[in-house]
Amino acid sequence: MNFEYTDKVKGLIQQVQDFMDRYIYPVEQELNAYYTIPENFWTVHPKIEELKELAKSAGLWNLFLPKEYGELSPGLSNLEYAPLAELMGRCKWASEIFNCSAPDTGNMEVLAKYGNAQQQKQWLEPLMNGTIRSAFLMTEPDVASSDATNIETSIRAEGDEYVINGRKWWSSGAMHPNCKVAIVMGKTDANAQRHIQQSMILVPMDTPGLKIVRPLNVFGSYDAPEGHAEILLENVRVPKSNILLGEGRGFEIAQGRLGPGRIHHCMRLIGAAQRSLELMCQRVASRQAFGRTIKDFSSIRQDIARSRCEIEQARLLTLSAADKMDRHGNKVAKDLISMIKIVAPQMAQTVVDRAIQAHGGMGVCSDTPLPGFFAYARIIRIADGPDEVHMYQLGRNTVKAMM
Ligand SMILES: Cc1cc2nc3c(=O)[nH]c(=O)nc-3n(C[C@H](O)[C@H](O)[C@H](O)COP(=O)(O)OP(=O)(O)OC[C@H]3O[C@@H](n4cnc5c(N)ncnc54)[C@H](O)[C@@H]3O)c2cc1C
Repeated sequence: MNFEYTDKVKGLIQQVQDFMDRYIYPVEQELNAYYTIPENFWTVHPKIEELKELAKSAGLWNLFLPKEYGELSPGLSNLEYAPLAELMGRCKWASEIFNCSAPDTGNMEVLAKYGNAQQQKQWLEPLMNGTIRSAFLMTEPDVASSDATNIETSIRAEGDEYVINGRKWWSSGAMHPNCKVAIVMGKTDANAQRHIQQSMILVPMDTPGLKIVRPLNVFGSYDAPEGHAEILLENVRVPKSNILLGEGRGFEIAQGRLGPGRIHHCMRLIGAAQRSLELMCQRVASRQAFGRTIKDFSSIRQDIARSRCEIEQARLLTLSAADKMDRHGNKVAKDLISMIKIVAPQMAQTVVDRAIQAHGGMGVCSDTPLPGFFAYARIIRIADGPDEVHMYQLGRNTVKAMM
């Protein structure tokens, strides 16, 4: 394995880094503070659209998509995208500026891979242009949704339409004022074999019967302006042409969607951990306690050393998974994707926790990006498959491979 970047990638790394230094970090606190005020929650700060235009015109746009789309996506491999996503992960909201944020990235991949020409024209094009946002509605409050076969929302055929009924929650992005479409997972045939009961269907957010019940909070924060919604679907009618790929193909699409989505979160979390470590080093080098600079206490040095080792271990594992995805496909790389999904969020949570501790009281205050990073790492230990589910599957596959 050779993880030396090509000149093209080195150039992009420099460009993204310069963009972060010049445009993102200087307004990071201002935007974070703006979204702590409830009246601002579901609005778009003008700076966001301004920065998106700048990133787009610099060609730093849709970098996540491994497929070339003219000027809208350079078609980078996962390995090429990894260091760029890591840089974006250094600020909680930076990936949106480059049109590289979840859940839009996963939804765009689904539309690019499984959408037909009409679906791509209607939804993929505006998503790739960054003029609309989207949501992905799989999880339900009433069933253990880490097992996707449990999903109960019904998608019933009636004439030329499908009628959808169910309740969803943790629908990230659904509170955003520009969220115009949702990909909804539900059952078209509850009597079919377990893995072909589900389908995925496109539902415009303004379809009658789709009701936002409430925004959910994460440790008290509403993650505005995207938010996470609880949504009721009551006799929601959409044309039959809105189905993706065909009835019974939902599970297959979910598997295809989650591989890249998972590794992107891991790449960003490595960036969040790296920045936390840098902030920790700067803080402990600048404060005195008990007659010493804090950096000189042995326990602090151990925390720094351990963090550096753990970040580099996770980074290399991520690159290894990305490389396997590129060369052999997501299916063959599934064990490595599970490994990194188990390792990176836990690593980031631990490293951010050490950085918080070393900052003292300031560490838990949103004057630093640390509380946001901590919440992000903690969430990803549950979202896109809880740790235990990945371990359950990886353990099973490992035993099978060793027999
Ligand atoms: C902030 C946030 C954003 C999210 N965004 C989205 C989104 O945009 N769209 C969407 O559809 N969903 C989203 N989710 C939902 C997320 O994917 C689910 O919460 C996750 O899949 C777990 O499902 P569940 O909450 O129903 O937990 P359950 O399925 O009830 O599982 C609860 C716990 O049971 C344990 N468990 C489950 N299976 C096993 C096993 N095999 N072995 C051992 N223990 C096990 C684990 O500890 C697990 O955490 C989001 C969640 C959060 C917190």
